[in-house]
Amino acid sequence: MPFETVTIEAVEPVGPSDEDVPPGADADSVGGIRVLSDELDTDGVSVNHYTLDPGESFRVSTHRHGVQEEIFYIVSGAVTFGSDAAETTVEAGELVRIPPGTSQLGTNDGDTPATGLAIGAPREYEEETEWLVECPDCDERTVHTFGEAATEGEYRYECTGCGHETYRVSA
Ligand SMILES: [Zn+2]
Repeated sequence: MPFETVTIEAVEPVGPSDEDVPPGADADSVGGIRVLSDELDTDGVSVNHYTLDPGESFRVSTHRHGVQEEIFYIVSGAVTFGSDAAETTVEAGELVRIPPGTSQLGTNDGDTPATGLAIGAPREYEEETEWLVECPDCDERTVHTFGEAATEGEYRYECTGCGHETYRVSA
């Protein structure tokens, strides 16, 4: 049986448009995401390739995985990982580990494009990722869950503090 191989350039990048970034989120814009886990048919690890133009972030806002451990390998450029506690710039050729339960967001604060690989395990996890987004009802940044809305093809950010639906996006 041949081993599974994937050419990154052959995978179509996806990623939320700027309208899908909720107000009060940390990202201005999200970079291109190539989801390689499906292409590689992985069992236990999540593998994503990212292309971040200057100013773009990996995801829409600072977020926290409850159980998933993540490794980011920066292939080109540089990416600054920030959280409430710390900020670290990771250069091309360097890797950074994000322990489970740590809030973070990686952003390309430089002048040149950055590319990188994110490897996370386990691939699937029961707990929802928690997102820091501004809640208009709480009038502050609160932890939100992001999940499917009752309307098919739509997803919603819900404040865990007050239950308010802060933002809704279409898939
Ligand atoms: Zn709220």
